[in-house]
Amino acid sequence: MMERIKVLKNMGINAQFILSMTVAAALVTFLIGEYERRSETQRMNAELLSQANLTVSLLSGLLVEPIIIQDTPVLESALHEALQRNSKLRAISIKDEYGTVIAKTDWADTQGNEEIRQFTNDIIVEGEPFGMMEVDWSTAEGQAQIAQNVMHLRIVTAITVIALSVLFLVQTNFLAMRPLRNIHERMSAVILGQNYKRKYLSSFVSKEFKALDFSVTVLQDTFEERDEREFALGHAKEEADKASRAKSDFLANMSHEIRTPMNGVIGMAELMLETDLDDDQIMYADTIAKSGAALLAIINDILNFSKIEAGKMELELAPFDLQSAMEDVVTLLSAKAGEKSVEITLRYDPELPRCYEGDVGRLRQVITNIAGNAIKFTLEGYVYIDVSGVKQGDDYLLTLTITDTGIGIPPDQLDKIFNEFEQVDSARNRQFEGTGLGLAISTRLIGLMGGRISAVSKLEQGSTFTIELPLVSAPETFEETPASTLNMVGLNVLVVDDLELNRRILSERLGTWGIKVVLASSGDEALDILQANHEVFDLIIQDYQMPKMDGEELAKTIRSMDSHKNLPLIILSSVDQSLSVATREEIGCCELLLKPVRSEQLRNTIARSLQMQSRAATPVENRREPAKDMDQSVSILVAEDNKTNQFVVKKMLKDAPVALTFANDGCEAVDHYKNARPDIILMDMSMPRMDGLEATRAIRQLEHEKTAQNCPIIALTANAMREDRDRCLQAGMNDFLSKPINKKALLEAIQNWQ
Ligand code: ADP
Repeated sequence: MMERIKVLKNMGINAQFILSMTVAAALVTFLIGEYERRSETQRMNAELLSQANLTVSLLSGLLVEPIIIQDTPVLESALHEALQRNSKLRAISIKDEYGTVIAKTDWADTQGNEEIRQFTNDIIVEGEPFGMMEVDWSTAEGQAQIAQNVMHLRIVTAITVIALSVLFLVQTNFLAMRPLRNIHERMSAVILGQNYKRKYLSSFVSKEFKALDFSVTVLQDTFEERDEREFALGHAKEEADKASRAKSDFLANMSHEIRTPMNGVIGMAELMLETDLDDDQIMYADTIAKSGAALLAIINDILNFSKIEAGKMELELAPFDLQSAMEDVVTLLSAKAGEKSVEITLRYDPELPRCYEGDVGRLRQVITNIAGNAIKFTLEGYVYIDVSGVKQGDDYLLTLTITDTGIGIPPDQLDKIFNEFEQVDSARNRQFEGTGLGLAISTRLIGLMGGRISAVSKLEQGSTFTIELPLVSAPETFEETPASTLNMVGLNVLVVDDLELNRRILSERLGTWGIKVVLASSGDEALDILQANHEVFDLIIQDYQMPKMDGEELAKTIRSMDSHKNLPLIILSSVDQSLSVATREEIGCCELLLKPVRSEQLRNTIARSLQMQSRAATPVENRREPAKDMDQSVSILVAEDNKTNQFVVKKMLKDAPVALTFANDGCEAVDHYKNARPDIILMDMSMPRMDGLEATRAIRQLEHEKTAQNCPIIALTANAMREDRDRCLQAGMNDFLSKPINKKALLEAIQNWQ
């Protein structure tokens, strides 16, 4: 059955019609034939019955006497004669009223398979019954006639049904199938967007098909309009992309063009500040340098933003240490916070892994922006950064919150500040500088990393910015230092800080190293604890700026207690020179640690304090190595076409033991190199005649031919993009300094490569 349905399904509609019609014709022919056969048989039976009655009454009329006297021979010869005369009669018998056969005759040629019908009639003579007569009739002739009639009727019916079906098929084809095929072809072409030469429907096609055809025309028009719109949109998008590319190229070029003279402005201002100036001149030069730096920050913002908008921002994917990145940001911003007595603190959930994969530079940029804003818009109080997270499969969903106690953001402006060039419009806000681009860039960067930023705020109470960021954790690889391997489990430390937040962060951090912590919220409380003498402490970590008794006084008081003369002290302070060297010597066994305290730094300082106490010789891990002395004979070739920049480099290096040679373009640089190989080459990227990249390639080629050692080449360029740095490195340069060059960076680079 299923197979048949399948066959039907796959057939064309004409074949389906033909098949259905054939089945219908066969059925109708069969049914009509059967009906005919039944009615003919009934008719024949009725006819036989009346013939039997007639025969009986005729014979009984003719044979009254022999029947009455029961003259069998006469009766039998009469019956035989009657049999001869009627070909359908097969047998006749006469019985008396008791059922005894008086006379009987039958047809000798009766065929075995012949159907015989028997009729029995009473013999009535003058109203009196005289027995009965049985007559056997053959139905063969009648049956043959019926079969012939049925056959005729079937043939006629079949021909009629087939003729009607063919007529129906032809009509359906003309009136329905052909227009339907037409419409279907057109609709398919419309849907596939192909060109189709429209065939009009004949005028006699029914109105339903005309309506369908009209609907396809409407559909075709709609599709054509849509295609035109899409084409126009595609074209507009192409134009917009071109414009966007042109915009970002323009911005990149502009940024390059602005950076070059800015190099002159900032460099000169820095140099001017190193000369003898009166107060006014210092103020002017300082303003020039600061304004230059501010302008540079704006240019960087615009460049970043246009890069993100043009979809050219590519994120790096490399393992990084999140805790130390956060500490870097806090360290960087702490000076700014310190200027206005805002305390910046960081809590990094000790349960959270430290290393992840991602673009640490961009993440640092975002945190610096949001935490920088928090400091900018907070006049007093604190900025608190909290890093926590939850494990989600193999990844982590980190939550970084930056809370401040600043001026807050009006609720109606809270969403707007994430848009480019949007700033809170209030008199209060206008006193702070900014471009309104920082949060827009941060939101997009975090978006590119798969996270999101949100903010809640209360006017005059402060704001909390939350960054939710999914990150994949990376294997933790830390260098082992004596401090990191020092076992601190079981140490007993007293922490003294007036700020609850700081006490909590410190005790949590120390707790993860297995240190037992006792907390005191003031100098007095600390002294009470020490005097109670219940606990023996290995170390005291105390804040410097505390109300009533400050850190210095507390330290001196502790030292005056006999039992704590050698107890190591670590004093945390936001101010560098809070304790003079003399005071520290007087206190003895005392370390000063600048806030914000980095985890590593704290661990090192604890290790050092404990080792100092045991008079062990301790390597000082957390101090910077003194810079290498610059060799007296560093010859530097500066390839730079811009005279101002040549002058800036010359002035920046005027006190350094270097011999400078200048080349005005790449060709001159290569010639100079050939004449005398310098120790270092500072190479501008864009120069007339031969640019820095080409010159570098030429120099590397010369070195290759002579199998000489590579001369360090440091790129000097106003192009701030990472691709530019990559291009420099690909051309064979060793390092990259982006303009405007800062004196410290220049000296460090020379020291590195000399
Ligand atoms: P910018 O700081 O350069 O103006 P941003 O995009 O970083 O630009 O910030 C947009 C605006 O959002 C700021 O000008 C300020 O009005 C508001 N804002 C951002 N952070 C804070 C904050 N912590 N407290 C109060 N206002 C804020």
